[in-house]
Amino acid sequence: MSAPTRIAIVGSGPAGFYAAEALSRGLPDCRIDIFERLPFPFGLVRYGVAPDHQKLKQVALVFDRVAFDPRIELMAGVEIGRDITLEALRRYYHAVTLATGTPQGRQLGIDGEALPQIFTSSSFVGWYNGHPEHVGVDPDLGVESVAVVGNGNVAIDVCRMLARPLRDLQSSDIPEPMLAAFAKRQVREIHVIGRGGPDTTKFAFKEFRELFGLPGVRICVPQARELERGLWPAENGEQDAARVSRLLRQSPAAAPSAGGTIINFWFFARPRAFAGTNHLTGIVLAPSDAARALNGLVPPSLACGLAVTCIGYNGCPIAGLEHDPRTGLLAHRSGQVVDARGNEVSGVFAVGWIKRGPTGVIGTNRADASETAATLIARLPELMRGRAVGEASSLASVLKERSIRTISAEQWRALDRFERQRGAALGKPREKLLSFVEVTRLLDIAETARSHVQ
Ligand code: NAP
Repeated sequence: MSAPTRIAIVGSGPAGFYAAEALSRGLPDCRIDIFERLPFPFGLVRYGVAPDHQKLKQVALVFDRVAFDPRIELMAGVEIGRDITLEALRRYYHAVTLATGTPQGRQLGIDGEALPQIFTSSSFVGWYNGHPEHVGVDPDLGVESVAVVGNGNVAIDVCRMLARPLRDLQSSDIPEPMLAAFAKRQVREIHVIGRGGPDTTKFAFKEFRELFGLPGVRICVPQARELERGLWPAENGEQDAARVSRLLRQSPAAAPSAGGTIINFWFFARPRAFAGTNHLTGIVLAPSDAARALNGLVPPSLACGLAVTCIGYNGCPIAGLEHDPRTGLLAHRSGQVVDARGNEVSGVFAVGWIKRGPTGVIGTNRADASETAATLIARLPELMRGRAVGEASSLASVLKERSIRTISAEQWRALDRFERQRGAALGKPREKLLSFVEVTRLLDIAETARSHVQ
């Protein structure tokens, strides 16, 4: 009997799991190890999807099934590049598929951006979702005005979280310390700042419309009159941007400030600087190229005590591989990673946001994973020819020698159960564990209990 194909997947978000699913379907006789640097799997499903959108998180059930396929092993808590190099990993597997995503929130690169109370979407969303690397962010939500830069779905998530009644958040899986910060909210006004027009937003219509149904929330377009001077686009079309635009056109320029939260949508505005010396006081704006001709369309500045830049994400470079210096994305052809000269990097593949950039919904990763899996499978005869790879057991001993504790799917399931039980006691779907320390402590307790039983 020939030895099975051994494949490593680095990253356990939707792209990693869809890749595991596609590869295990295409290669009945394979062994796949999924490495994850955090203690928990599922990436953006756990740490990106907003806590009040629990339905979207149900896709984790699909990934859970994949994780318990006997040919697939989860190794959470191992960071490739820190705990073991990519070069070393390649010696243990016929192929390595990188599904590391684009974890770095993009910055505007303008003056004042280092002031406190200014966050990228990556850290702000990571914070309210209990991401171990962002739990310490600690924004002060006791401010009256917030600026949210960007016209994509992450901006909508952030607005909705800031404007939603507390009772809705109490039944979400937002962790208790973050819930306490949301309970101190004083937000009366959110300014959403887009550099394009009302017809070029990237909002999904469904998500956008949800804002209109939030109790106590009013949507305004302060530039409504100026936009009538030829800046509202043709209103036909069933594309999301056209539908968003039609809804915005029906919105008033201002609303009486009788409690609740006003969300102001500003267009054709380019952030030029953040104002403030020791603390944030506002955002300085200039007309974006499209609006230069219209005097007075864009206000010179807007007051705010908190700002979240939701302008996309960059990938983190992986040592030894070619990446785009502006975006951090890997150079590839149909998922096959290539070097600076376009030559294939043997046995290294990419999938998900590190491959195609931070676009699309969770399901988009399924088709993306199929493409990478097909590319990988086509190259396997060559990758396996005469090439024996290191045993899984020897990789395990290397990790053990380095005192790296891996968390398996079974252990993760026990942690998941623990989180759900804790959540149920609080009337929530789960109460998340927030750090490696907490996870390690629990696993230690479980192991001690097991050894006492044996
Ligand atoms: P996005 O959809 O690409 O939106 C980014 C926004 O930032 C765009 O409006 C962009 O403007 C703007 N922007 C970029 N650079 C800027 C700059 N320097 N100055 C001012 N504005 C700038 O990204 P995202 O909102 O981060 O979402 C990432 C992906 O996740 C998207 O595919 C999104 O649909 C998906 N997502 C889906 C859901 C959901 O389905 N519920 C929820 C969250 C996220 P331009 O358009 O002018 O470039």
